[in-house]
Amino acid sequence: MTTNILIVGGGLSGTIIANGLCRRLGKQLRRGEVAITMIGTSDTHMYQPGLLYVPFGKFRESELFRDQRKVLDRRVPYFVDPATKIDAESKSVTTQSGKVLKYDYLVIATGSRIVPQSIPGMAEGAHWFYDLDGARKMRDALDAFEGGKIVVNVNAPHKCPVAPLEITFMLYDYLTERGLMDKTEITYTYPIGRLHALEPVAQWAQPEMDRVGIKYETFFNTKEVHPEDKTIESEEGVTLPYDMLVTIPPHMGAEVITDSDLGAGGWVPTDKTKLTREGSTDIFVCGDTTNIPISKAGSTAHFEADVVVENLTSLITEDRWAKDYDGKVFCFIETGMNNGTYVWFNYATPPNPGPPTQMIHWFKLAYNRLYWLSAKGLL
Ligand SMILES: Cc1cc2nc3c(=O)[nH]c(=O)nc-3n(C[C@H](O)[C@H](O)[C@H](O)COP(=O)(O)OP(=O)(O)OC[C@H]3O[C@@H](n4cnc5c(N)ncnc54)[C@H](O)[C@@H]3O)c2cc1C
Repeated sequence: MTTNILIVGGGLSGTIIANGLCRRLGKQLRRGEVAITMIGTSDTHMYQPGLLYVPFGKFRESELFRDQRKVLDRRVPYFVDPATKIDAESKSVTTQSGKVLKYDYLVIATGSRIVPQSIPGMAEGAHWFYDLDGARKMRDALDAFEGGKIVVNVNAPHKCPVAPLEITFMLYDYLTERGLMDKTEITYTYPIGRLHALEPVAQWAQPEMDRVGIKYETFFNTKEVHPEDKTIESEEGVTLPYDMLVTIPPHMGAEVITDSDLGAGGWVPTDKTKLTREGSTDIFVCGDTTNIPISKAGSTAHFEADVVVENLTSLITEDRWAKDYDGKVFCFIETGMNNGTYVWFNYATPPNPGPPTQMIHWFKLAYNRLYWLSAKGLL
C-alpha cells in the first residue's frame, strides 16, 4: 500500500519539505511505498526577500525567479492547479481544475498574502515592496523623488517582521547618497506602543533611528489613506501628511484556508511544537500560514520544515514522533546599504541584536545567492 503525502503550496516551506522527504524516504519512494505530490499556483518560485532590494535597483528581477520544477526533486510531481477546498474529514483536496486528490498525510504550506485593499485608500495611495509589481512601482517613485515627507507605515500582521526596519534604514542611506536627506523627513509608524513587536528589537531600533533623525509614531493603527490630499490617518486620531507613502500592507493567509473553514484570516490553528493542525494527526502546517505567534519569516518556515520532514519520516518508517519545534528563528537585519545585524531566538530565548557591521551585511548578500540551495534543502 502506498502512503500518499500531498503538499499544498510550492513556496519555501513546501519545497524544503518535499526535497527533504525525498532524501529521507528514497528507498520507500523507489519501492512505491510512498508517493509525494505537490500543487501550487505558479510554474515559478520567487525569492521573496530579494524584493527588498528592487526599489533601490540593487537586485536583478531575473534573479528573483527559478523554475519551480528545477528547484524541486524530480521524484515529486508538481501541478500548477491551486487547491480550492481542503476537506479534513474525507482526507481530500479539491483543485481549481476539479480534481479531487486523496491524501494520507497533508502538508499545508500556503503562505500569506498582502491585502492593501482591506484599508480604504491604501491600494491607490501607497507604495510597497511586498510583491514584484509594488516593488517596481516603488522603484519608479523613488527615482522621481526629489525630497519631502516619507511615511513608512507598518500594518499587522505581516511577514518578515524586520523588513519594515530594513526598508527604513535603507531609504535613509539611499537618500543620503543621493544628497536628498537634508530636504527629506522620514517618519516610521508602528501599531503598538514601541517600534517593533519584539521588545529587544524595538529597544535596539529606537536609538538607531534617533541617531539619524528618523521620526516615529507608535500606536498608529491605519484607518484610512487619503490619496487626494496625501495624508494617512490612524484609528488613534493622528493624521500624517506625506509626499511618498511606503506601506507594509496587512496580510492574510490563503483564501483556500478560509474557504475550507480551517482558520480565521487564513491562519490555521497549529500546535506550536508539533506543527500539526490543532485536532489533526495527519495534517501538518508549516510557514506563514500557521497561527503560531512567532515571526512569519523564511527562516521560521525553514526550521519548521526540517522538523516536519523528521516527523513525517519517522511516522512513516517507525510509527513514532521524532522531535518538537523549539520556535527557532534567525533573521538578518539590513541596517542601511552597507551594514547589517542579525537576531536569533526561540520560544525560550529572546532576541538580542548586536551592533551592525559590514561583515553581517555581506553575509546577508551571500545568503541572497544561497537561498536556492536552502530551498533544495541542502543548506
Ligand atoms: C519583501 C520581503 C522580504 C522578506 N525578507 C525576509 C528575510 O529577510 N528573511 C526571512 O526569513 N524571510 C523574509 N521574508 C519572508 C519569507 O519570504 C516568507 O516568510 C516565506 O516565504 C514563507 O514561506 P511559506 O512556505 O510559508 O510561504 P511562501 O514561500 O509564500 O509559499 C506559499 C506558496 O503557497 C502557494 N499557494 C497559496 N495558495 C495556494 C493554493 N490555494 N493552492 C496551492 N498553492 C497555494 C503560493 O503561491 C506560494 O507559492 C520576506 C518576504 C518579503 C515579501
